[in-house]
Amino acid sequence: MALDQKILDELEKVVGKDRISTSPAVLYTYGFDSSIYHHDPEVVVQPISTEEVSEIMKIAYKYEIPVTPRGAGTGLCGAAVPIKGGIVVAMQKMNKIRNISVKDLWVDVEAGCVYNDLNNELAKYGFFFPPSPGSAEACQVGGMVSTNASGMRAVKYGATRDFVLGLTFVRANGDIVRAGTRTIKDSSGYQLARLMCGSEGTLGIITEITFKITTKPKKSASCLCAFNSVVDAGECISAIIAKPLIPASCELMDRISIDAVNKARGNPLPDVNALIIVEVDGETDEIIQRDLKIVEEVAKSQKAVSVTPSFDAKEIAKWTDARKSVLASLSVLKPGYVSVSLADDMGVPVSKVPQAVEFFQKTAEKYNVTIATYGHASDGNLHTKMVLDPTKKDEWERGFGAVNEIFAKCIELGGTVTGEHGVGISKALNFQDERKSEIEVIKAIKAAFDPKNILNPGKAEQWTGTPLRDLRYPCPEFQ
Ligand SMILES: Cc1cc2nc3c(=O)[nH]c(=O)nc-3n(C[C@H](O)[C@H](O)[C@H](O)COP(=O)(O)OP(=O)(O)OC[C@H]3O[C@@H](n4cnc5c(N)ncnc54)[C@H](O)[C@@H]3O)c2cc1C
Repeated sequence: MALDQKILDELEKVVGKDRISTSPAVLYTYGFDSSIYHHDPEVVVQPISTEEVSEIMKIAYKYEIPVTPRGAGTGLCGAAVPIKGGIVVAMQKMNKIRNISVKDLWVDVEAGCVYNDLNNELAKYGFFFPPSPGSAEACQVGGMVSTNASGMRAVKYGATRDFVLGLTFVRANGDIVRAGTRTIKDSSGYQLARLMCGSEGTLGIITEITFKITTKPKKSASCLCAFNSVVDAGECISAIIAKPLIPASCELMDRISIDAVNKARGNPLPDVNALIIVEVDGETDEIIQRDLKIVEEVAKSQKAVSVTPSFDAKEIAKWTDARKSVLASLSVLKPGYVSVSLADDMGVPVSKVPQAVEFFQKTAEKYNVTIATYGHASDGNLHTKMVLDPTKKDEWERGFGAVNEIFAKCIELGGTVTGEHGVGISKALNFQDERKSEIEVIKAIKAAFDPKNILNPGKAEQWTGTPLRDLRYPCPEFQ
């Protein structure tokens, strides 16, 4: 349904002719993120300032039009898909790094800045913003705050929320709010800036962020450990941490993930049932050598069938690239099949990783589906990608059955349905189960911030019915 021309004219007055579009091709493109969903918006606008975002929101509020903020669209759960149509506010033109204060340990940056662009600038001063998502080359820092993104380094350095000191956001009615501080410590009442972390565009549009920054470690090295079973690999991770040793990162890959990468990229990995890639970092060669030795010893004592330590940046990059390519590689596993993000991002306490992974494998067998497991296992965050024929209703239904059992198991183990990708649509119902006792408070917060329910409506706690609809694949039953 097209928006009234009068409303489009008002929006055009705010952003000008060049930064508004209702062209079918543009609407189609902005109807996707990297999830399984698709729904066209009615108009896309690209603001260049907080004031413009405020004027856009005043118009949306007056006419009660749904608004979906959009970063780079790399989200995997449908959070940026404008499921109710309306306005997409695309943030890519608000990408300036405003101020870096290394003396005070912070950076002020616009929400549309790409994560790697920020870190390339910080590197000039010997600093970095550590969360390191796999989508680092594309995702925007505003999208990262909105999903509380993290990645390989969360076990040692934390997630995005651990670095948010303050931010500016625009409320549903267009009011501009500056929340938080530029201090490392702050006990000043409710932590509104933190509340925006993980809010997925449902509480306001974030326009600027003050992140804490930290020094970049001077040295690092990695160890590739191979196992006969993914359970042995999971137990090894807990044993390394209990040593005690907090690795900079520790990535797990199961047999299906390894096979997919080896097929897609010409065998960069050993042909085994499970691998972990453990990275250690620090200030001196002595620290790195000591920690790498600990990893080697623990892995050998935990049934590793081979252990390959390396200080060679090229070799380590080969392993890391292989791990990062799992998601894409899975789609070449079987002709006609693709990897889909149905249950892609659960988290469990680290000691429960072996139990969780074993359950995933049994559930895949029970439902006769292919599930690859990989992820940042040293913080208990596991990614499971389902490989299915997306044109077949039955495949989706069996996949969905498996997913629901997997999520329920993770909650039972004291975990979460999403460690870093967010709730959006695909995990909405399972999120409602996980947060049962918080749900009324969550609804009250949403109503206080957005009384007309125009900010990214219908997702997470508001979702009802099956998440198998509005799929972007040619499966007529679920479109
Ligand atoms: C190959 C690949 C690897 C990935 N690896 C990781 C990983 O390791 N770790 C991880 O955490 N995630 C990962 N992701 C998921 C995704 O990259 C993250 O969730 C990322 O933070 C999303 O950022 P984005 O800019 O693309 O946001 P989008 O996908 O555009 O939006 C995500 C949500 O944030 C909201 N939003 C965006 N910008 C704003 C804003 N300025 N104000 C208010 N709301 C806003 C949107 O409405 C939406 O709800 C991966 C994705 C891919 C495709």
